[in-house]
Amino acid sequence: MEYFTYLDDGRVDETQRTSPLWVIPKDLCTRCGACHVICPPNVIRFDDHDFPHIESEGCIDCGLCVKVCPGIDFDMKALHEQMYGAEYQPQKMSGTFRKAYLGHATRPGVRQEGAAGGVVTQLLIALVKQGLVDGAVVVGPNPDDPALPRPYIARTEAEIRAAAQSKYTTVPNTKVLRDLKGTNERFAFVGVACQVHGLRKLEQLNKRLHDRAFLTIGLACRGTLEKEAIQDLVDVNGIQMQDLKQVSHRGGPFPGKFQAHFKTGAVRDLHHFEYKDGAYNMMLRMYLPDRCHLCPDYSAEFSDITCSDMWLRGRDGKYLHPKGSTLILCRTEKGEQVIEALRQAGELALEPVEPRTVDKAYAHLRRERKMISYLRISQRLRQGRRAPDYGVDAAAQVTHMSWSDRLYEFTYRMSFLFANRPRARRMMLRFFFSPVGVALIFLKIKSKQWRGALKARVKARQGA
Ligand SMILES: Cc1cc2nc3c(=O)[nH]c(=O)nc-3n(C[C@H](O)[C@H](O)[C@H](O)COP(=O)(O)OP(=O)(O)OC[C@H]3O[C@@H](n4cnc5c(N)ncnc54)[C@H](O)[C@@H]3O)c2cc1C
Ligand code: SF4
Ligand code: SF4
Ligand code: SF4
Repeated sequence: MEYFTYLDDGRVDETQRTSPLWVIPKDLCTRCGACHVICPPNVIRFDDHDFPHIESEGCIDCGLCVKVCPGIDFDMKALHEQMYGAEYQPQKMSGTFRKAYLGHATRPGVRQEGAAGGVVTQLLIALVKQGLVDGAVVVGPNPDDPALPRPYIARTEAEIRAAAQSKYTTVPNTKVLRDLKGTNERFAFVGVACQVHGLRKLEQLNKRLHDRAFLTIGLACRGTLEKEAIQDLVDVNGIQMQDLKQVSHRGGPFPGKFQAHFKTGAVRDLHHFEYKDGAYNMMLRMYLPDRCHLCPDYSAEFSDITCSDMWLRGRDGKYLHPKGSTLILCRTEKGEQVIEALRQAGELALEPVEPRTVDKAYAHLRRERKMISYLRISQRLRQGRRAPDYGVDAAAQVTHMSWSDRLYEFTYRMSFLFANRPRARRMMLRFFFSPVGVALIFLKIKSKQWRGALKARVKARQGA
């Protein structure tokens, strides 16, 4: 019996004998799907919340699912040295990269269809058209359930374009790599950091898979949402799920909105203001999975190319790039070559970005995604609880906490008060959709713009 998922020499690993089920109650599972790919007898399935479980009696107790699991450990320090030949800097939000660009797709329609500048979609189309890959791991709409996105391997331009735009809910997209078992197909992979970690560990365990993974495109990730978020969003708008064909997460002009697409062809916005400050940031406080609090990799530091939005604001407090552009970090030589080839072919319009601008673009999340993640990991370890092992001394990362950091951490904790309480968070969501809630969100967005404008003015004066 030949399994795509055995270790390179065809044996199973005898060193770790345990089942994957113990991972889940420990809140370590990122729901990436890698365990499903590696499992020799294919007995791992996913429940309604995308947590893996063993379906049948068929487990042969090989331990591979635990070995591949990036939720338990992912040695960023070692992999960084191996990939980039340099010492890992745990506090650097952008990770290591060779070149940075701000860009957008030039193929008609692709920029508008994308979440930011449509660069990821354009890249995948080009790779497939040039025959560099046979398909790409993407997350697209689900014909069976409009609220729940579906991962699949896209092999045509139409299939790639259908998957454009981010879907901000948990998706174990890595699991679809199992569909390539027994083939020699080469593929490109798109995913947030924890999904990229799953892929990298799969590649370490299986050389065949490694050789066929042509390009890994990481997406920056502040956090995802539990699936209930979309169901609740539809509910508070008084919409019946059975009337819907699809829910888009970044529909309409940049930066987009959560939108309901009805079977009748009608489209309706699911909230008043733009997707980020008007919905996603607020919903994160209620629907962020526990595991995301422990994740210190915002910018998918171990991909070939990272793509993110460019959220920098100008002096008027408004977005500097309101038409939708993707911030692109070329991390590896291959990543750089692919982007350069697309630029030369006129498929991408690019302008170079200075490293300090990248730092600026990511700076607002450094406390939350570096300091607080390491703080939470070290606290769990002190309490004798299991925490993910990123190959970094987490306690050493939080020795220099200022009072403002501590205050930030306190308010951060408080803002998640309603998470994991389904009824309470539904009530909160209803409140935010009431006239008072809408007024509060409006004030928050305005105050953010005013603060941004004030900061920009102070900086400009200091620079003058
Ligand atoms: C959960 C999540 C959180 C994010 N958080 C941030 C953030 O905080 N800051 C930021 O700047 N950017 C964030 N991004 C990335 C951002 O939303 C855009 O994906 C990125 O800017 C690329 O835009 P684009 O127009 O080039 O991509 P597009 O051309 O729109 O292509 C997007 C690609 O992403 C894939 N995809 C969509 N949803 C998922 C998913 N859940 N898992 C895996 N692949 C998926 C699609 O298959 C598609 O190929 C996040 C993305 C996700 C999925
Ligand atoms: S221990 Fe092995 S056989 Fe059992 S679920 Fe994990 S990978 Fe599959
Ligand atoms: S491999 Fe991924 S999906 Fe499986 S248990 Fe680990 S984190 Fe969860
Ligand atoms: S915050 Fe980290 S763990 Fe959570 S979805 Fe994003 S990459 Fe995965």
